Amino acid sequence: MAASPNLSIVVPCYNEAEVLPETLRRLEALLAGLQARGRISAASRIFFVDDGSRDDTWPMIAQAVDAGSPVVGVRLSRNRGHQIALIAGLEAADGDAVISIDADLQDDVSAIEQMLEKFEQGTDIVYGVRRSRGGDSLFKLGSAKAFYGLLRMLRVGTVSDHADFRLLSRRAVDALAEYQEVNLYLRGIIPLLGFRSETVLYDRHERFAGQSKYPLRRMVGLGLNAITSFSVLPLRLISALGFAVSLATLVLGAWILVGALTHAQLVPGWASTVLPIYFLGGVQLIGIGIIGEYVGKLYLEAKRRPRYFIDRIHRRTPDTSER
Ligand code: UDP
Ligand code: MG
Repeated sequence: MAASPNLSIVVPCYNEAEVLPETLRRLEALLAGLQARGRISAASRIFFVDDGSRDDTWPMIAQAVDAGSPVVGVRLSRNRGHQIALIAGLEAADGDAVISIDADLQDDVSAIEQMLEKFEQGTDIVYGVRRSRGGDSLFKLGSAKAFYGLLRMLRVGTVSDHADFRLLSRRAVDALAEYQEVNLYLRGIIPLLGFRSETVLYDRHERFAGQSKYPLRRMVGLGLNAITSFSVLPLRLISALGFAVSLATLVLGAWILVGALTHAQLVPGWASTVLPIYFLGGVQLIGIGIIGEYVGKLYLEAKRRPRYFIDRIHRRTPDTSER
């Protein structure tokens, strides 16, 4: 590559005032180091996306900009959730390469240089893959493992043990921006883009400070999005189950008929009458629930509501070190 690339680092932040100073310090040091070695251009910036925080996150970001840090602050009009904050940041970023990373320093900042190396070799997408997950609770580990297993079963193409720590080339970001769905699950969309992709291994750390902003409710929501946005297999399974049950009932009916014709006395079966009713009732309710889940998604997508609004973009003007 001729000139050194402009690197954008996108960091979604929701009530992250506790970790922000340390995150800023580390990312700033990283950018300075890379710039000093001529790896990235002087126009490279860290894009902090404030996802409607209620603490001091935004004032801290704004202050960093005013103090001359290579930072651009993007503030959303309200809290929209991690995935939307991410896409807002990716769309605001202007780099030749864009790296997304969590604000809480769970992702290893030092892996960024390896990602950049792969980018320079012509890779469009570099996934950060967790070699270990030191900082996560047993529950999070177990649920994540089960969830990735389920996704594989449902043939949703995702990269296992990869969160949203990744590098995207300019054309990959532009391609991603064409996916207009409101129910975003980036980890599912990005493998669909194609392009040359590679992985970089890193060790997942503990959250540097503060608490997880992903309560169980949000985790379940993200999981449902992952399944219903990328797989129609649950719907097919329901049809298959219905088909199998109907077939079994036909066979059973034939068997009873034969029994009634050949033996004079048949024991009147309570269980064989009542159990199928309950069973089929349950199957139907599950089926309706699954269909409802998809219909709900259709409803939300059909409205084509805008994904986010930007309240403010705060950057130094004129941005003196711009190319
Ligand atoms: N986050 C966000 N909006 C939200 C929730 C989270 O922008 O509504 C950000 C958060 O600030 C962090 C990242 O998403 O940078 C991941 O969140 P967190 O670390 O709380 O999730 P966990 O690592 O516990 O899954
Ligand atoms: Mg985290």
